[in-house]
Amino acid sequence: MNNSLFITLLNPSIALVLAAAFFLLWRYQRHRPYLAMLGLAYTGTAIGFLLQGFILPIGYGPTKLLSIVLFTLSAILLAGAVVARYTGRVPIIPLATFGAAGVAAFSYFMFVLPDLSWRILSLNFALGAISLVVASELRVIPDKGPVERILFALSLLSGLNFLARPLALMALSGGYADDSALYSSPYWTTSVYSHGLLSLMLALTLFTAEALDRVRDLKSDSVTDALSGLLNRRGFEAKAAQLLERCAKGNLPVALVVADLDQFKALNDRHGHAAGDKVIIEFASRLRMAAGVRGVAGRLGGEEFAVVLPLADPAAARLLAEAVRAVFSAEAVNGLPSDVRVTASFGVAARCGEEGLAELMCRADEALYHAKKSGRDSVRVSYERSPMAVPTPAGAA
Ligand code: GH3
Ligand code: MG
Ligand code: MG
Repeated sequence: MNNSLFITLLNPSIALVLAAAFFLLWRYQRHRPYLAMLGLAYTGTAIGFLLQGFILPIGYGPTKLLSIVLFTLSAILLAGAVVARYTGRVPIIPLATFGAAGVAAFSYFMFVLPDLSWRILSLNFALGAISLVVASELRVIPDKGPVERILFALSLLSGLNFLARPLALMALSGGYADDSALYSSPYWTTSVYSHGLLSLMLALTLFTAEALDRVRDLKSDSVTDALSGLLNRRGFEAKAAQLLERCAKGNLPVALVVADLDQFKALNDRHGHAAGDKVIIEFASRLRMAAGVRGVAGRLGGEEFAVVLPLADPAAARLLAEAVRAVFSAEAVNGLPSDVRVTASFGVAARCGEEGLAELMCRADEALYHAKKSGRDSVRVSYERSPMAVPTPAGAA
């Protein structure tokens, strides 16, 4: 392959492969339109670069203009997609303004006052400004991770590449008289390679961001109960153990509340499983509210729930359980006849000494058992010290 054909085809080939990859990702995630925007952006770039190598029957000027319009629209789409991914909105006014100004200046230096060097600068300045819009938007997003920092750096680098490189290289060469001087210049060679490299790095960073999102989703699915949205048993045990450890380190009180819906099997039999599901959702939302941001609430399975409450002694945990019990048993549940009330029983245990989650759970379950035994719709507290938590005298076997 001769060198100039290789250069002509390098960027379109890279861009088309990346466009296909983004469209493929979008096919499986239609709710993420920014992936389709990226696919369109890379397609537009590919066609724009191809048009640099060939002249259409519409003539030289219109072909170049079409190519530049495609580059500009692609840059706007790319910039919009990256910003929308993080902020949920596209900064359309600055992007469209810089894009339109670039195309207008390019048209002026193509059709009114033909000047190749100014055409190059018009396009590059517009693309540089668009890159800097992305950088300024990414700069202010909160909690930037490594991926966001890399994207920010790439958008700055891209801005610099579009603004400084053409200026420097054209100052050195003194401008270009025609296309053949342009295509054999260091400006053109560096344009093709730097664009190819930057768009590859950008796409790889965006693919990494997507992959990390999926890993996060999978992780969260594996610890979340799909029906109630609370942590499932696995997630609850992990988070609760962490919280217990933090409280132990800070020498802070902590309590566990377990809850079980009363006569739930009968409720299912009478009103149907779907109505039972609604009760679970409603009860879970009460527990989530009661746990607040500091507590940890989970659905341990079926109609059994648990909440770990930091900074709570037995009296505080009991009060909270009483509040949930009273509110829940007083209100009608959506999906059930308005005169039907559902109740729940609660067991409370506050940590003694070094008790772990298993010991605490054991005592809270015992208290719950007493609540069930004494007629349900009530709260019982375990005041006993767990036998497992009693320190063994030194030397005892
Ligand atoms: P108790 O007051 O003693 O707790 O009686 P109960 O009927 O609530 O307890 P039991 O353990 O006999 O029955 C629990 C029922 O919870 C049986 C099961 O059909 C129902 N259940 C478990 N998971 C779900 C669920 O996800 N949705 C619905 N609708 N019901 C569920
Ligand atoms: Mg029950
Ligand atoms: Mg049960």
